Amino acid sequence: MIDGRTQLVGVIGWPVEHSLSPAMHNAAFEALGLNWRYVPLPVAPGMVEAAVRGLVALGFRGANVTVPHKQSVMPVLDSTAPEAAAIGAVNTILITRGPDATATVSGYNTDAQGFINALRRGGFEPQGTRVIVVGAGGAARAVVRGLLAAGAVQITVLNRTLERALRLISDLGDPRLTAQELTPESLVTAADGAELLVNTTTVGMWPDVQGSIWPAGVPVPSRLTVFDLVYNPLETSLLRQARKSGAQTIDGLGMLVEQGALAFEIWTGQPAPSEVMRAACEKQLRAGR
Ligand code: NAP
Repeated sequence: MIDGRTQLVGVIGWPVEHSLSPAMHNAAFEALGLNWRYVPLPVAPGMVEAAVRGLVALGFRGANVTVPHKQSVMPVLDSTAPEAAAIGAVNTILITRGPDATATVSGYNTDAQGFINALRRGGFEPQGTRVIVVGAGGAARAVVRGLLAAGAVQITVLNRTLERALRLISDLGDPRLTAQELTPESLVTAADGAELLVNTTTVGMWPDVQGSIWPAGVPVPSRLTVFDLVYNPLETSLLRQARKSGAQTIDGLGMLVEQGALAFEIWTGQPAPSEVMRAACEKQLRAGR
């Protein structure tokens, strides 16, 4: 029941109607008997400052931030966690209030640790490994930052637009990083010397479900673990190619759940029921959203 004590969080983005986060977080609140609700909050480009002021005025406890506001929200915040500053993007905000009702808005990024938690849950320990990251957008920045912190020894960033990959590695500034242009040949060659391949591009995402970064007809090295950030569909063409070649696979839903679980803990201070959260996402995906 929603009443005068109900605590509110939500997601600001554009669009947000397909987000799995409301189902995921509301299932978690219900499972723990918390009088909290999570609502989708469509915020048009250019409106993020007004939206954050609105959240503060309306008594919200926090929010997730998604495309296209992850960077543009940063100047509006009172403080930014070092991890979010290093990635250059915020995906979670926390609103705290002092005794005189003065609000403080803090920004976090749970994508990097969410990715690493999902990787470990999938049975892969990144410490000491060589990794290929395909893509150089916002998600790639979080993935690379997480891998550096978790002790990967070599990370090659392959992107269709080489300049963007070069900018990513220069921004994160670490000698373990190199960048290359993404071509079928560069990918297959690079994968030969790696233990982990991560797709952070949108390739393979519904409705273009036939798309894959990996060339058709070429086996995926079976000692590779392949992680696809795309979670709709759960088994992408890339993961199917990897599975059929005998490689280990990890789907993108694990990262969505783990980054959500970390946000849940930031807001509520309670351990998140991640199994409940994953089940709610799967149900929503099966229902075709
Ligand atoms: P983004 O900033 O827009 O970056 C998109 C990336 O995809 C760029 O590197 C882009 O390359 C590449 N790309 C797009 N179309 C391509 C094509 N046809 N061939 C090769 N590369 C292509 O997006 P993002 O925020 O990083 O998100 C990327 C994906 O990760 C999305 O599918 C998103 O849903 C997913 N994601 C999942 C989670 C999770 O929790 N599982 C979290 C965050 C994001 P160019 O630079 O050349 O354009």
